[in-house]
Amino acid sequence: MRRPRIGVMGGTFDPIHHGHLVAASEVASSFDLDEVVFVPTGKPGFKQHQKVSPAEHRYLMTVIATASNPRFKVSRVDIDRPGLTYTVDTLRDLQAARPDAELFFITGADAVAQILAWKDAAQLWDMAHFVAVTRPGHRMQIDGIPEGAVTTLEVPAMAISSTDCRRRAEAGQPVWYLVPDGVVQYIAKHGLYRGLRDDTSDE
Ligand code: ATP
Ligand code: MG
Repeated sequence: MRRPRIGVMGGTFDPIHHGHLVAASEVASSFDLDEVVFVPTGKPGFKQHQKVSPAEHRYLMTVIATASNPRFKVSRVDIDRPGLTYTVDTLRDLQAARPDAELFFITGADAVAQILAWKDAAQLWDMAHFVAVTRPGHRMQIDGIPEGAVTTLEVPAMAISSTDCRRRAEAGQPVWYLVPDGVVQYIAKHGLYRGLRDDTSDE
């Protein structure tokens, strides 16, 4: 019997936007995935010097954004694990929960550039197949990654980033159509990204 094929989309999701959703959908279609699990990070190791919204807000926005797609799930493994988030721990926890599954880790090409600096990078290649999605303005850098471990996939041009969405929300500019409607409303309801420099940190 064919093993279930599960995509794993890790991210800060502060906020989740249509770039993330299109990337997950494209990879699911190209790799014939049965589901994609979105995994909001706890404390991202490489964003330690940056203010990040509380994990529950990021988790709930991810749930809202993915709710209408029966193949999209959200996992709390990273936000419930104490300490900094490392991909090796994410993959280990998800594999333990679904020992039968084949995992496909979906990541932006910009993040692949940092992959070798990740904790236990050498182990990662055996734990999942890596799919690097390219987006405008980010070049792929794959020196030092084993042959065949990473597949690149071009996704439709989605020049959307969470950074831009936060700046827009802070400046009172619209984020409609950059993020799902429910996320626009969630950001407004909770006043996220207002006065970014004071009160959005969970540190
Ligand atoms: P920030 O601007 O705060 O860094 P981000 O938009 O890059 O946020 P993350 O939560 O950091 O969002 O991204 C999670 C994953 O999604 C990363 O692997 C990232 O490379 C990828 N990603 C982000 N934006 C896009 C996009 N527009 N198209 C495809 N992949 C994306
Ligand atoms: Mg990013």
